[in-house]
Amino acid sequence: MTDKPSRVEFYRHAVRDEDIEAVTQVLRSIFLTTGPVTGTFEQKFAAHMGARHAVGVTSCTAGLFLSLKALGIGPGDEVITTPMTFIATANTILHTGATPVFVDVEADTGNLDVTRVEAAITPRTKAVMPVHLYGHMVDMKALAAICEPRQLSIIEDCAHAVESERDGVRPGQLGTTANFSFYATKNLTSGEGGAVTTNDDHINDQLRLLRQHGMSKNAADRYTKRYQHYDMELLGYKYNLPDVLAALMVHQIDRLGEQLERREALCQRYERGFQDVERVNFPIVQPNNTSARHLFTIWVPGEHRDDTIAALQDDGIGVAVNYRALHLMRYYRETMGFTPGTFPEAERIGNQTITLPLYPDMKDEQVDRVIDAIRTIAATW
Ligand SMILES: *Cc1c(COP(=O)(O)O)cnc(C)c1O
Repeated sequence: MTDKPSRVEFYRHAVRDEDIEAVTQVLRSIFLTTGPVTGTFEQKFAAHMGARHAVGVTSCTAGLFLSLKALGIGPGDEVITTPMTFIATANTILHTGATPVFVDVEADTGNLDVTRVEAAITPRTKAVMPVHLYGHMVDMKALAAICEPRQLSIIEDCAHAVESERDGVRPGQLGTTANFSFYATKNLTSGEGGAVTTNDDHINDQLRLLRQHGMSKNAADRYTKRYQHYDMELLGYKYNLPDVLAALMVHQIDRLGEQLERREALCQRYERGFQDVERVNFPIVQPNNTSARHLFTIWVPGEHRDDTIAALQDDGIGVAVNYRALHLMRYYRETMGFTPGTFPEAERIGNQTITLPLYPDMKDEQVDRVIDAIRTIAATW
């Protein structure tokens, strides 16, 4: 009799003792909300990304929304984006009162197809919101060449892309803002959190006001020196990253490089494992690019996708779906009238995709076990 093979979790965080120690120090200090440690994290993260500024916020969703607000985008405006993303991306456009305009994605990467952007531009278009899907960057040079002459802003959704680079371009270098997520499963995480990087001093000032009620002084300014009155300069929100969460990430930044090497090795092991399986495909990362390797997804025949997920779960293997096409979610169908067939590439990927376990502490043998399970299932199709 053989033992039942051990579970392969979908995700395990890589929080280490030094991170826990940093949080403990904050908890033993007097200051829990946005203060000196958030400041330290912002400076370190900005330097790591090669950006002038980083603004800590409570989520990537908040960052995307505040980026749109900082650019004055609202009712009557259009923002071009992708239907192959997490719902947060397009939802932030709706929250401002503007209209998301979707364009279809590339068949081999799932990324926004930049060659389709020009045809979607109208006199109302104010910005493009690309998503660097799974960590593989959108062709930012080509996108910037379309946006710059028309004075369209680029707001990058970098939730998957902390470590990414393409054609020598990193997140935030060609966009007006780059928006990062530190949600529980992201490559850099505080459970919940986010940051916006920008090289634009004015946008930085606006983001700092917008994240905290439009107040001219934050709590640290008010209480660490003599009491200072604040004024309200604009109608803002409440999206500031607190010190407790920032502390969890200060040391993680230093480990991103080595963790990326491990992610890359695991992904290449998956890719080799599926190379000769005809009906299991996966998005292509061109060799000259660095993918952040946030998620490893495979594409299986659509009619077998959900059964494959169920079989993997029965076998003790954690999986997810990133993503079903956003425009076919009930809310978007009902409020914007989308029907199947509108964005065929995004819909095909949405029907075929399965995300497999991937995290730096994953063992080679665990990857092999997932590969074997899928090869066994694929043999029954
Ligand atoms: C996780 C994610 C977001 C949202 O991030 P939050 O920090 O949870 O708001 C946005 N876009 C994409 C592509 C994501 O994966």
